[in-house]
Amino acid sequence: MNAVTPVGPAAAPAQEPNGTVSDSEIISYEPATGSEIWRGKVSDTDDAVKRSRRAWPAWAAQPLSTRMELMRRYANEVRKESDKLATTIARETGKPMWEANAEVEAVIGKVELSIRAYAERSAQRKLDNAIQGTMALRHKPHGVMVVLGPFNMPAHLPNSHIVPALIAGNAVIFKPSEKAPATGEILARCLNRAGVPAAAIQVVTGGPLTGQELVAHDGIDGVLFTGSANTGIAINRRLATRPDKIVALEMGGNNPMVIWDTPKITDAAALIVQSAFTTAGQRCTAARRIIVKSSMYDQIVPEIKSLADRIIVGSPFDEPAPFMGPIIDNAAADGLTESFLYLLSHGARAIKHLVRPDESLPFLSPSIIDTTGMKERPDVELFGPILQVIKVDDLDEAISVANGTRFGLAASLIGGTPQEYNRFWANIRAGIVNWNRPTIGPSHAAPMGGTGLSGNHRPTGYYAADYCAYPVASGEVEQPRAAIGVGLN
Ligand code: NAD
Repeated sequence: MNAVTPVGPAAAPAQEPNGTVSDSEIISYEPATGSEIWRGKVSDTDDAVKRSRRAWPAWAAQPLSTRMELMRRYANEVRKESDKLATTIARETGKPMWEANAEVEAVIGKVELSIRAYAERSAQRKLDNAIQGTMALRHKPHGVMVVLGPFNMPAHLPNSHIVPALIAGNAVIFKPSEKAPATGEILARCLNRAGVPAAAIQVVTGGPLTGQELVAHDGIDGVLFTGSANTGIAINRRLATRPDKIVALEMGGNNPMVIWDTPKITDAAALIVQSAFTTAGQRCTAARRIIVKSSMYDQIVPEIKSLADRIIVGSPFDEPAPFMGPIIDNAAADGLTESFLYLLSHGARAIKHLVRPDESLPFLSPSIIDTTGMKERPDVELFGPILQVIKVDDLDEAISVANGTRFGLAASLIGGTPQEYNRFWANIRAGIVNWNRPTIGPSHAAPMGGTGLSGNHRPTGYYAADYCAYPVASGEVEQPRAAIGVGLN
């Protein structure tokens, strides 16, 4: 499969990118101020894997009820540290405090959901079989799981792998994003305080190279990854000859929203703005493209623009609270600016320009660009506040444009009739398909994953239990009892 290339020429970073990694040290900076927030040593992966392998059998041998109880204690520890955790998330990612607080709540909520999901999807079952006695279905953990986290939700997303993996009895080696190592450290501390042995949940710090070492290590049994498609493809390639390792890939999107007939223009605009610009557009499920029925265009597009004009962009702790913070670093801001210019110079028309008020910091305004007139729209994930608008005439064309992507994470239909939604649902290719709901904010009580370059059909969310343990079928009778009925003298 092709790598996903950025739009336009590669941008030269104006200063060190967030999460600067040398051979021995990693430094994380606050996007909103540029000041250093965390500095630490790059971990020895070999050492971490050996410790995990030693710790795993004892952890797996704990009763399931004990592991579940420890996860509940972990939720309490996170609750105790919630202010510190939210502040650290906000400082490391630049997201507003209200959003960082919501992320902490998602971390806590994941524990009960994961316990419920394990009980439902990995429960022990007895299947009676008159001839063969009893058939038992039980699940076993894989062993040592590597969790690789992204920067944009540095607590919630790795947590969504870590908690189900620990409940199932795996030992976990967690490498947080090099852009948010401090958040990862707090999560691991809460797990240890709750009573999970230090070797059963280890934090390894480092950048892509450290991730590569872990993926390639013979002593691991699986990789649970959330991040970009390029990294996911690299991991998949590295493990292509190792079908014995479990690989769950949660990757990006080029998510469409189709805007059809609706009298509720203000609500529709609010759903679109929420979907495109929450977390400054740094969500895997963010709406990247709206595909608008031509007769709706003149009503909906000005409404979106006027709402986007009102968005406050600011630092995480500003009062009044901003809607959007900065994006993750200057290198990413340079790349998005280049991409916006690339679209403009290839036939697109700006509805609202991407503005960067201070060249030394990665604050960007929300931006809207009409790409209807482009001969070829690049199918890449622009991970920031850029919303493309495409005008179409009928629903078949809308669905075809929406499906014109190698990704397939989230899609929404805004407006339309129930019959039109049925057509949309049946023909759209995505793992999350919504009607009059934003593309972002998937339910944690549902599976979360995508098709195409968005994932490898191992969704996380409620279905994370499925990749954290494997089913074992056992025919069981207390005494041997058998006779051969044919073919004997
Ligand atoms: P990234 O791919 O750059 O990094 C993710 C993690 O992988 C980091 O810990 C990084 O150090 C590590 N890594 C990088 N290269 C590696 C390699 N070759 N081998 C092993 N590990 C490697 O992603 P990011 O920029 O931190 O996060 C943003 C991306 O994540 C976006 O594409 C977004 O759509 C995606 N994302 C997906 C979901 C989802 O659930 N599908 C959720 C959030 C974010």
